[in-house]
Amino acid sequence: VDPSDRSRGKAGLNAFLHVNAEEALEVAAEVDAARARGEQLPGLAGVPIAVKDLIVTKGQPTTAASRMLEDWRSPYDATVVERLRAARMPILGKTNLDEFAMGSSNEHSAFGPARNPWDLARIPGGSGGGSAAAVTAFQAPLALGTDTGGSIRQPAAVTGSVGVKPTYGGVSRYGVIAMASSLDQVGPVSRTVLDAALLHEVVGGHDPRDSTSLPEPVGGLAAAARAGAAEGGLAGLRVGVVKELTGEGFQPGVEQRFREAVEALREAGAEIVEIETPHFRYALGAYYLIMSSEVSSNLAKYDGVRFGHRVLPEEGPLTIERVMGATRAAGFGAEVKRRIILGTYALSAGYYDAYYGSAQKVRTLVQRDFAAAFEQVDVLVSPTAPTTAFELGAVDESADPMQMYLNDIATIPTNLAGIPAISVPGGLAPEDGLPVGIQFMAPAREDARLYRAGAGLE
Ligand code: GLN
Repeated sequence: VDPSDRSRGKAGLNAFLHVNAEEALEVAAEVDAARARGEQLPGLAGVPIAVKDLIVTKGQPTTAASRMLEDWRSPYDATVVERLRAARMPILGKTNLDEFAMGSSNEHSAFGPARNPWDLARIPGGSGGGSAAAVTAFQAPLALGTDTGGSIRQPAAVTGSVGVKPTYGGVSRYGVIAMASSLDQVGPVSRTVLDAALLHEVVGGHDPRDSTSLPEPVGGLAAAARAGAAEGGLAGLRVGVVKELTGEGFQPGVEQRFREAVEALREAGAEIVEIETPHFRYALGAYYLIMSSEVSSNLAKYDGVRFGHRVLPEEGPLTIERVMGATRAAGFGAEVKRRIILGTYALSAGYYDAYYGSAQKVRTLVQRDFAAAFEQVDVLVSPTAPTTAFELGAVDESADPMQMYLNDIATIPTNLAGIPAISVPGGLAPEDGLPVGIQFMAPAREDARLYRAGAGLE
């Protein structure tokens, strides 16, 4: 692989925006040498990994798939990257995404969309399409993604891989380019549930440099995956089927595989309960207000003055305001601008109570729905995404951006509540032969339950 080649890789996936071949080979050689010397090495030493290009890495570009950061280089590593290095895992490169992680199809990348290995004419999901495509196509055994509203889980679902959004605060966000800070989480993408658990244990746990980081270390996840996969591993597990996340809007083949998954859980000894979550229907609207508001604030720093891309106005005086305007006009794509404008509007004086304030109230109601559900069951289950992978260009966002946002209907409630969720492969939809994802959700800090349930279904 030519490390400087940013065009499509061999398989035409465009999964990587940067390939870090030389350094990855060096690390692999060092691990080999250390192993030959009989050194004690961490469990995943020598296992290569791909990193979403929203997570900063020293010595490699970090673009957020935006022109704004195209030539920017991070002077430091994100905590999760430091932990990968400490675990002696070769970093293969940086994976494609929707610009600043905003999207469900990877079509918003400034460097062209990543593609679905199942069918190159179809989307690999978003925003973390590159990580999911790389893992599915065996370009990398593991990857890291970020999930603000589903960007790890929905790509996992539509590519037939495993994706986990950990408990909010469970994995450090230090060095992760912020999209919406009250929602963002870093998590694993893999081909098996156990692989995801092993990676989660490497990157998770307290980080004093992230003020939202949970105090306790992460642990017991791989053990939970092994327990779930064992004979009788799901016996007695109480599983709630979320009534609101089935039916209208869900593709028939997705629903069929979902019903079969629920049957398989029952046969494996799980107790199935139907759960009502009356406020989930408002979650999508609340998410798009809260997320956009935070986006408008977090992206204010890309002003062409402090760092990143700078564009000077073609004519007229060079005031700071005009440089910022020209920079942001040229540096951001249409979806990023849409969200900045929406968020700025929602936060503007006089509108706060009507929009942001109301959305925060809905967020509390969604959290209460979950709290009530988890009094009755150990985990909740739903399809991860309403449809299988659609074709590139199938959604006309300039006419109706809502249609793209509806992809997030099943993944967003957990981000609003800060709780963990996993997507595991649930077979192929009969009508199109494409992968379907099954999602489990668990209470905060109970990520282990996801690994048990996910491995039990796998
Ligand atoms: N599809 C969601 C959005 O566009 C997911 C974003 C994410 O999780 N980063 O906001």
